[in-house]
Amino acid sequence: MRYISTRGQAPALNFEDVVLTGLATDGGLYVPETIPQFSAEEIASWAGLSYTEIAYKVMHAFIGDEIPADTLKAMIEDTYSTFKHDAVTPLKQLDSNHYLLELFHGPTLAFKDVALQMLGRLLDHFLGKRNEHAVIMGATSGDTGSAAIEGCKPCEHVDIFILHPYNRVSEVQRRQMTTVLADNVFNIAVEGNFDDCQAIVKASFNNQGFLGGNTRLVAVNSINWARIMAQIVYYFVSAVAVGAPHRKVSFSVPSANFGDIFAGYMAYKMGLPVNQFVVATNANDILHRVISKNDFSKQPLLHTLSPSMDIVVSSNFERLLFDLYDNDGAAVEDLLNRFNNEPVQIEQTRWDNARKLFDSLSVDDATTIDVIKEAFERTGELLDPHTATGYRAAEVCNRDQSVPMITLATAHPAKFEDAVIKAGFAQGAPLPPHMADLLEREERYTVLPADAAAIQQYVVENKR
Ligand SMILES: *Cc1c(COP(=O)(O)O)cnc(C)c1O
Repeated sequence: MRYISTRGQAPALNFEDVVLTGLATDGGLYVPETIPQFSAEEIASWAGLSYTEIAYKVMHAFIGDEIPADTLKAMIEDTYSTFKHDAVTPLKQLDSNHYLLELFHGPTLAFKDVALQMLGRLLDHFLGKRNEHAVIMGATSGDTGSAAIEGCKPCEHVDIFILHPYNRVSEVQRRQMTTVLADNVFNIAVEGNFDDCQAIVKASFNNQGFLGGNTRLVAVNSINWARIMAQIVYYFVSAVAVGAPHRKVSFSVPSANFGDIFAGYMAYKMGLPVNQFVVATNANDILHRVISKNDFSKQPLLHTLSPSMDIVVSSNFERLLFDLYDNDGAAVEDLLNRFNNEPVQIEQTRWDNARKLFDSLSVDDATTIDVIKEAFERTGELLDPHTATGYRAAEVCNRDQSVPMITLATAHPAKFEDAVIKAGFAQGAPLPPHMADLLEREERYTVLPADAAAIQQYVVENKR
């Protein structure tokens, strides 16, 4: 399988190089040159298969013979054995035709584990084969950092350094990172804010020479193709469970960078019969504006009760644009260059095509709180605030009540106490049993000044 850049200028790469590279040299994102196809008969034959069996079929289609079958199967088994539910991503029925797909049974209680557990193992496999070593650096205000740390914990060839703003991350979020006491995990509490952390990581990527030798610096953002690939799996698994391919299925997805829902779109392009994709956003509504009224423009960042969806630009939307523009990298590049400076519109016929499949809704904080209350009264399920946006959007945007609607539950409610308490659950939601002692566990982190040179020196001194 070859991968090409959405901006059309970078060299095509194989899967291994795409995993190790991240962003293409022309600034684009990698996508498969041709999209693997599954027939209706094949998808039908997956009924009754386990999560990991379907995962192998989907991932093999993207990896081909770059990883031997037995190795890939073992890697997938190992990855999803870290999930605390035998179904990996169980599906719960909410009413006659509305389902909740629980993606939060991984080590950090949010859906990013599905992809980052796999990405860590893929990186380790390819680096080991090449006898290379990688350092991962990332800045986090919470969520992605802990999922990346848990994903890299088992890696022999990867060290991970995650920067968070000192004293400005919630205790649960911090402890999910700092209580991982592995030799290759380094938490740095930066005496500054999140922007300082991000600036230091960016400066380090612009000056990779500081690492020396055959160590490469790798990023942990959602542009890595392997993350999308791993997320495609649960669209097939859940759709087959409610009757696909004999019937169509719809999905509602709490969205920010558009990585999760783009994985659903890939499943559709691969042959899954999908009636509708509903994009749910919080008040940071760039995706809602472009889908509902073809207004693709930046707005200032807002801090909401669903912080993992607080974004200005949705980086993975570029992958959808590339498909809407029939793989015309130059057209995508032109559109995105203009977008950097001014509001832009997608060409009318192309936007119309997207609208055949996509609807959207922006859900503000007050509504999110109401939805958490209401969903609990009607179904007994306590939703986290991200999932609540998806639940509301699924109800408001549903085009056909006879089609099963699957709302993706992207986080466990215990992770986002603020919203749950505001919805009237004074105790918050309890952490699941395997995390119940989180507040008693030993922590390890280093406090450093907001100074790139000091932090780079720390990385060099501590990497293996
Ligand atoms: C990252 C995240 C999202 C958004 O996913 P995207 O792939 O960025 O669209 C939604 N909910 C939670 C809990 C997340 O952590």
